[in-house]
Formats: sequence, C-alpha cells, structure tokens
Amino acid sequence: MDSNVLQAQAGLWNLTFGYLKSMSLKSALDLGIPDAIDNNGQPMTLSQLHSVLSLHPSKITQLRRLMRLLTHFGFFIEKSTGAGTEAVYDLTTQSRLVTRKTESTNMLAFVRCHLDSKWVKPSQYIGDWFMQDEKQVPAEVAHGCTFWELASREPEGIKSLVDVGGGKGAMANIIAKNFPYVRCTVLDLPNVVGDCPNDGIVKFVSGDMFTCIPPADAVLLKWLLHDWSNEDCIRILQRCKEAIPSREAGGKVIVCEAVVGSTSAMISEEPQLLLDMLMLTLTEGGERDENEWKHLFIEAGFSSYKIIHTSGFMSIIEVYP
Ligand code: SAH
Repeated sequence: MDSNVLQAQAGLWNLTFGYLKSMSLKSALDLGIPDAIDNNGQPMTLSQLHSVLSLHPSKITQLRRLMRLLTHFGFFIEKSTGAGTEAVYDLTTQSRLVTRKTESTNMLAFVRCHLDSKWVKPSQYIGDWFMQDEKQVPAEVAHGCTFWELASREPEGIKSLVDVGGGKGAMANIIAKNFPYVRCTVLDLPNVVGDCPNDGIVKFVSGDMFTCIPPADAVLLKWLLHDWSNEDCIRILQRCKEAIPSREAGGKVIVCEAVVGSTSAMISEEPQLLLDMLMLTLTEGGERDENEWKHLFIEAGFSSYKIIHTSGFMSIIEVYP
C-alpha cells in the first residue's frame, strides 16, 4: 500500500482512539497509582503495585497493559533492574504533578475535574450542537440543563465556600479556578477587601467575622484561629456554625493550621514550635495540639472532626456540625 495511505491510516487511528489516552489517565488516578509509587518511596514492580492497590487477582496482565500505555506517554517510566528481575515503574515529572504530596504545582484537582463524565460528555454533542439554532452550548445539549445547574444538583461536594480572613483572595482564587462550580467568597475587614475588584471569580465581602459570616456550604479558616485566644476562637467557630448547613447537607468548617506534635515523618516539630513563639510575640493565640483543637470544636458546638495530615507541618482539620 502507498506509504501516504499507511501514514494516513495510522493518523486516523490515533485520532479515533485519542480518548483512550485521557481515560487511561483517569483510571490511573482512580486507582491511586501515582500516590502508591510516591508513598512507597521507590519504584515498584507490577506485582508490588497490584498488591498495594488491592486489585482483583485476575487483573495483573491488564494492569501491565495500562502501565505500558501510560509509560509510552511519559506519565510513568519503566526501569530495568538487571537480567532476570522484574522491571520497576517510577514517577516522572508529569505524574508528580498529580500526587497528593506535590504542593505548589499540584494539578490533581484540575485533572480529575476535567476527566469527570460531566465535563467529558458535552464533547460528544459538538456535532449535534452545530445543527441547532439555539444559543445553548454543547453541555446543555448533553445534560438538558446548564453546566452550573448540573453541578449544583450534585449531592456530593460543596457548592459554595467562604474564606474567612481570606485577605486579598489568593487562596479563594486558586479554589475557584480549580473548582469552577464552587462559588467562592472572601470575608475580611473593610481596609483589606475594600478595594478588591469583584471580577466574578471571587466575591469579596467586607465585614467582621465576630458578627456575621456569609452563609456557605463550607467555611475555610486558614492561618486564622492561631491569631486568637480560646474565647475568641470559640466565638468565631460559633459564627461559622451558624453560616453552614447541617452535616448531612454537607456543612463543614475547614481549618488549615498546625497541629502541634503531629507532622509527617519527613518534617520535625521545629517549624511548629518556632511559629508558636512568633504567635506568642504577635497575638493572644498560638499553635495548638490536637486536644486543644478538640476542646475548641466541642465548646463551639461541633460534633466531630477529622485531621488530614499534609506532607508539610500544617494540617487540614475538617470540623462537622
Ligand atoms: N487566610 C489568610 C490570611 C490570614 S491572616 C492566609 O492564609 O494567608 C488573618 C486575616 O484575618 C487577615 O487578612 C485579617 O485582615 C483578617 N481579620 C482579622 N480580624 C478580622 C475580623 N474581625 N473579621 C474578618 N477578618 C478579619
């Protein structure tokens, strides 16, 4: 056959099956393969991966096929460990962007969000959409409602968040860009947010958190409670509880702070203790250990909490009404 035709066939083949690249990536993230290799601290053989991921015993060959495809695209790298031994898979710069331990450049939320069927399905309707006169975008043709209506119907996940003491909105902007269906608000003092532009991405509200916090599914308190005494923290947390719905409806307060005495194995307690001394010089607050946090949450009327340790010295505490 003419080499032009052969090339064209291969090109058409790749164009036809391009979606399998994205879906293989989605499968690797669904299974948690990048995190499994990262947590292992060294490259892993196929059998190690198969066992750590608790896959069905019959699926080891299929796992090899998934790893082979993703290795071809540079998401993993396969390394030989010598004759007669099983090859190992390691992370590449690409897959490190989606491990939970990666902080500033992390793309996990972005990638997961865009591989979700809600986002993928509209692309199957682009052809139909071209035939229609209406102003609807393909997402509306696919879902029968606007994308935002669809997102707001999702039972899981939070739809709105208020970052209390969120300054000029740096964190809220990151959240809003990675989770476009979460409406983000920043509450801060008038002298801080007074001149912040309401650009449609983040809404800025000037106010006093001791008086009233705008209602939302979740309240974010990042590096805030450590500025305040126990009595003040309890008052702030009570206002937070008034702002969120019940636990069943997804209400929660997300506290990002140090939990003294509990850090990841890679980091010592030293940064927490130094931060505590800094707070001693600046505020009536300080860094708290788990018992001290628990006391505040219970006193403010919350029922339970969950601490999620990060790879740094800060933790995320989800507090439930
Ligand atoms: N969350 C941000 C800023 C923390 S600093 C971050 O993680 O970087 C604490 C913030 O609380 C400051 O922006 C300060 O202006 C704000 N703040 C102090 N008192 C407040 C009050 N009564 N009501 C609302 N915000 C307040």
